[in-house]
Amino acid sequence: MPRTHATLPRLFVEPDLTTGGRITLGKEQSLYLAAVLRKTVGDEVVLFNGRDGAWLTRLTSDSKKSVVLDLIEQIAPQTPRSDLWYGFAPLKTERLDYVVQKATEMGAGTIQPIITRFTQVNRLKHERLAANAIEAAEQCEVLNVPVVAPEITLERLLDSWPVEHGARRLILADEGAASASPVEILNELKGKPVGILIGPEGGFSDDERAKLRALPFVVPVSLGPRILRADTAAVAALAIIQATIGDWR
Ligand code: SAH
Repeated sequence: MPRTHATLPRLFVEPDLTTGGRITLGKEQSLYLAAVLRKTVGDEVVLFNGRDGAWLTRLTSDSKKSVVLDLIEQIAPQTPRSDLWYGFAPLKTERLDYVVQKATEMGAGTIQPIITRFTQVNRLKHERLAANAIEAAEQCEVLNVPVVAPEITLERLLDSWPVEHGARRLILADEGAASASPVEILNELKGKPVGILIGPEGGFSDDERAKLRALPFVVPVSLGPRILRADTAAVAALAIIQATIGDWR
């Protein structure tokens, strides 16, 4: 996403983005542009939809109910969705929002809530999680919005992993592992599809950890000598993965 347009508002929209196209925004996005940002006719906005790259557009109507944008030109080609899979035991509301936003900013392509033995939250508001991913994607200038998958149990995840994920390795942030740097282990996974699994506030149960560590596709790692809160562990794990074998290059 070219920095030349970093000062312009960026909005995620559903419709196709094509040359000569015209997009009419819904109430919420119109209010945001026309009332909150006080954009008027002639002002420029960047749109993306996850399929057609980023487009420079111009307001031709600044009605607070339905802003109309004319497409001018594509300013960034579509990039492939990130292959990084992020699995986590959902936390209570505002920290759940935080974790979805951070996973998006850190480049996760799939965000998968996992219900484990000590997970505190069992019913998730999927709309809200998806909205957090979109808001984070707009802010951090990615061209894809991560897929926020419906929650599944750890058992179901592990049973279906070989079929669903093939050769993908599942990096397990294991709070019970002896303190160490994960860099060496991660470097051995270079070039391979990976996922990262973070447990709940209460950690993994003993039999969950035993089951996970016994699986051939699971790669346990330590995140150092201190016990991190689940949301801290999420950002730390994603950062070290992106920095060693991911897209921070
Ligand atoms: N309350 C638990 C810790 C859970 S922390 C306890 O006291 O044991 C939540 C999750 O963050 C863990 O399940 C693990 O996935 C991750 N995590 C936290 N600290 C970690 C560390 N030092 N090494 C590896 N994973 C860690």
